[in-house]
Amino acid sequence: MIPYKHEPFTDFTVAENQEAMKKGLETVNNYLGQDYPLIIGGERIMTEDKVRSYNPSKKDETIGYISKATQEHAEKAMAVAKETFETWRKSSPEFRADVLFRAAAIIRRRKWEFSALLIKEAGKPWNEADADTAEAIDFLEFYGREMLRLKDGVKVESRPGEFNRYDYIPLGVGVVISPWNFPFAIMAGTTVAPLVTGNTVLLKPSSNTLVVAYKFMEVLEEAGMPKGVVNFIPGSSRDIGDFIVDHVDTRFISFTGSRDVGVHIYERAAKVHEGQLNLKRVIAEMGGKDTIVVDSEADLELAAESIVKSAFGFSGQKCSACSRAIIVEDVYDEVVAKVKEKTEKLTVGNTETNEHFMGPVIDESSLNKIKEYIEIGKQEGELLVGGTTDEEEGHFVHPTVFVGLNHDDRIMQEEIFGPVVGIAKAKDFTEAIKFANNTDYGLTGAVITNNREHLEEARRDFMVGNLYFNRGCTGAIVGYQPFGGFKMSGTDSKAGGPDYLVLHMQGRTSSEML
Ligand code: NAP
Repeated sequence: MIPYKHEPFTDFTVAENQEAMKKGLETVNNYLGQDYPLIIGGERIMTEDKVRSYNPSKKDETIGYISKATQEHAEKAMAVAKETFETWRKSSPEFRADVLFRAAAIIRRRKWEFSALLIKEAGKPWNEADADTAEAIDFLEFYGREMLRLKDGVKVESRPGEFNRYDYIPLGVGVVISPWNFPFAIMAGTTVAPLVTGNTVLLKPSSNTLVVAYKFMEVLEEAGMPKGVVNFIPGSSRDIGDFIVDHVDTRFISFTGSRDVGVHIYERAAKVHEGQLNLKRVIAEMGGKDTIVVDSEADLELAAESIVKSAFGFSGQKCSACSRAIIVEDVYDEVVAKVKEKTEKLTVGNTETNEHFMGPVIDESSLNKIKEYIEIGKQEGELLVGGTTDEEEGHFVHPTVFVGLNHDDRIMQEEIFGPVVGIAKAKDFTEAIKFANNTDYGLTGAVITNNREHLEEARRDFMVGNLYFNRGCTGAIVGYQPFGGFKMSGTDSKAGGPDYLVLHMQGRTSSEML
């Protein structure tokens, strides 16, 4: 087996790659506006009631109409998943891993099409769409290999006359609920982790980005996934969300999304219902309020570059996005001036032509929430750049920077999930780390300093799951920087890491007398 290596990113300065992406966009244009069914036990079920998926850069462009599952559909999917579990749990780990490797190969062949779909359905700029597709491939390649590593369990000791084994066995039926911001990578990664470990799945992706999820279902089928292993039940979270979380046969829930919804699911999953045979496990990856700390002894150009790229890449709609910067006072003015200059150069617009650094935000409710925070920011601090929107064709927000904030202002505390960054001052490095920790979240963070002692201080004291030194705070790579946060950012799980698959299994000890 070739050792795991992450999928390289595409260089879009190369004319050949630009042409390939344009062809990918053409492919997607040819299937815009189609109807998509649910998939339960391999059966296609078209419903009357549908979700319209549209291009956030061009609101009137429909990507597709996707059938909406009702509670009856969810019940049926659960019954199928429960029955299929009895065969799937006995399938060989090698076979299951092969499904993932074949799926990765299929996606690699259709890479341009998938990235083009992300440009249209999620409003991703080309490089961000390419990175999302690459990450989906990475999850498939990485988790496939991880299953092969874990398939014979872990060695335990045996005394003379006995033979002890410690094996990992699957849990049962899992409910996978994924977000729209990495509509391919996170949706695919959180679906195949339970699949490859021998569980069956009810997949409910975000209602904003359902066509890419449907296309992934087709890939899994083509890769040899038997019917009923993953059941595709998109639908309104109001109609089926609580139903699938509460279901007595749900063994575990893998959720990625906002803190409020994550906490709601966590609480509901704790309730034991009549007839329930297991305590439910919850894997929750939630929000962030991620900070870049800039020390006085630092490369200030790198600091400003890291803040701007991490704050505004994909319009700040990453759980890892830099939404606040804490700058030691000696260098505050200089860094702020550089951030201003760099931010002013960024352009915003339709992502299809790859002319702009930033595209739209995902939908109207997101746009409105960001606008409210811009008003709050104006009251709490001083608007340095941006603060305006362009709503005619798409949901565009200009990159926005607030300065002169206190570390405990709302702009510095609450997840905005848009292109808005707040900047505050600290008197020294230790105070900067203290301010950085002063949030309910603990997902990512970065420290820009040339002082070795300060790096070690941050390694010890900065309470985030993903801590970066002398770089931005986004862009974790599967298998290289396992990803997941502390505190209210989730259940401390690490996607793309060595412990991740084990979260989808239970350890069984068997002891045989010889
Ligand atoms: P969201 O609103 O919480 O939605 C996430 C998923 O939960 C969607 O599929 C949504 O379905 C579903 N959902 C909503 N209410 C539900 C309920 N009551 N029961 C069951 N499911 C329910 O989050 P989002 O806006 O899609 O994503 C952005 C958030 O995700 C941000 O907070 C971001 O920080 C976080 N995030 C975290 C990570 C991480 O690894 N820590 C990674 C990516 C994103 P509908 O779309 O149908 O409502």
